[in-house]
Amino acid sequence: MAQIIDGKSVALQIKLEVKEQVARLKAKYNLIPGLAVVLVGDDIGSVTYVRNKQKACDDVGIRSRTFSFSSDVGQKELEILINELDRDPQYNGILIQMPLPRSLDARALLNMIIPDKDVDGLLPSNIGKLAIGEEALYPCTPLGIMMLLQRYAVPVSGAHVVIVGRSNLVGKPLTLMMISANATVTLCHTKTRDLPGIVGQADILVAAAGRLGLIRGEWIKQGAVVIDVGMNRSPEGKLAGDVEFAQAEKRASLITPVPGGVGPMTIAMLMRNTLLAAERQMRP
Ligand code: NAP
Repeated sequence: MAQIIDGKSVALQIKLEVKEQVARLKAKYNLIPGLAVVLVGDDIGSVTYVRNKQKACDDVGIRSRTFSFSSDVGQKELEILINELDRDPQYNGILIQMPLPRSLDARALLNMIIPDKDVDGLLPSNIGKLAIGEEALYPCTPLGIMMLLQRYAVPVSGAHVVIVGRSNLVGKPLTLMMISANATVTLCHTKTRDLPGIVGQADILVAAAGRLGLIRGEWIKQGAVVIDVGMNRSPEGKLAGDVEFAQAEKRASLITPVPGGVGPMTIAMLMRNTLLAAERQMRP
């Protein structure tokens, strides 16, 4: 039976570390890191995520403010806000909660954030720096996955890592991080032939497809480490991952649950990135 990777407790530990560092910044430089969150519309998922992010900020001592708009807000109004936030020294990080309504050009808005405040690590310049191994703000979910593996002492160097899902948010940046950590990476998507065969070769499997139960337990190699990023609703309305947990648990050596695995790590890494952004902006 696999050991469960407790993302909740690792995330708590990271938030405690951030909290200590935030307190140190305040004592030494009278600086309180600040995060601005832009929320458009009343999608229940987005509202819940934003609330969780704000709570995490409160927990670690980061100042946060949510700028909420109704779903019919115009592009121009948001552009003006982002320009102001870019210039406002109170905010070290800016986050636009996705998805935005279709009437808005999300990429254009994202690209207006100055790279040093891009705490989601989604701007082309930050992703480009990740690709060439330069210091930058990196995307939170892949960072959280790397941190989980590190805290559970999973050897990544030389491992065959199979990632299912090639999104800009998870699969692609995680591939870059895994390469930097000397893994051999196979990145799968909907056109991949023989997904079961490739999954079966993984020393470390990361499922990030957003398809309930896509990864069957019997595909998984005995002793593999399984990281389930997927967040889906089961027919009973429960939150569940991309991996058939009950079967996978019998073959894996370590496995993340959903919920309580990668999810809490994403928010913890957002706190870490906001702190990092504040520290970087202090540099002359
Ligand atoms: P996305 O943008 O929809 O991308 C999904 C990826 O999975 C695509 O590359 C797609 O392939 C691939 N895929 C879908 N069905 C597949 C199949 N049957 N076989 C092989 N590949 C398949 O999703 P995302 O934003 O990366 O999110 C993925 C999941 O992670 C979602 O459930 C999301 O809620 C969750 N998530 C969780 C967190 C967290 O903090 N826990 C953070 C971010 C995302 P194509 O490119 O060929 O279409």
